[in-house]
Amino acid sequence: MRFYADWHTHTCYSHGVGTVLDNAYAAQRRGLKEIAIADHGPANLFGVGVGNLDTFACIRSDIEEAKRQVSGVKVLYAAEANVIDTDGTIDIPLPMQDVFDLLLIGLHILVKPRSLWRAMPIAYSNIMAKVCRQGERQALVKNTDMLVAAVHRNRVHIVTHPGYRLPIDTRELAKACVVTGTAMEINSGHRHTTCDYLRRAAETGVLFAIGSDAHEPRRVGDLTAGWNLARQAGLDPQQILNVSPQGREWRRR
Ligand SMILES: [Zn+2]
Ligand SMILES: [Zn+2]
Repeated sequence: MRFYADWHTHTCYSHGVGTVLDNAYAAQRRGLKEIAIADHGPANLFGVGVGNLDTFACIRSDIEEAKRQVSGVKVLYAAEANVIDTDGTIDIPLPMQDVFDLLLIGLHILVKPRSLWRAMPIAYSNIMAKVCRQGERQALVKNTDMLVAAVHRNRVHIVTHPGYRLPIDTRELAKACVVTGTAMEINSGHRHTTCDYLRRAAETGVLFAIGSDAHEPRRVGDLTAGWNLARQAGLDPQQILNVSPQGREWRRR
């Protein structure tokens, strides 16, 4: 399968190891037409996220340089933001969101919440999810509500690795994504997704994007695991935006 884009890659501005230029050249070597630099938002703790929002200006300037140097690849300015409140607030403020070519959001553990008070029940549920069924159900509802709110509140293009480490109701999220025109990611790095999970999402008509989640240049464009899973789940290439030509129109919305 020929992919034309990998919209989920990280650099050393967050916790990847390559530079923007390294990733752009890696995309060129893979024969990709588009790559997005999507470093983590500032709320990720322990050096996983960018230092602060100003870092995105440096990333943007590196992207401009990469565009000048690397031919044949469109380098997109993106971010993988964190949901930091139950109302769907993310760590990239609304006025800043329009500047990005693509905005990805994901639920991550070890994120600084906007309100510790409101985050406590969610953190507690996710801890209890590991020890009992009821806890898992509660965590699933809370995590899903938060992601659904985030998809509605922000100009989101892709929800990254839904269900990774934090349980969610894939069907409910997919329904919100359909309404808002958001894609759900099939993550080629984490390998947590199952066929059943994808089928339940696909029944809603949601569209998918396969992302490498590359944290090093050699993994840029490594989308095979996601593609294999999509095939096993019976998905059609038309349902995967970074395969089909309709994806080019979709991301410009
Ligand atoms: Zn992530
Ligand atoms: Zn990522």
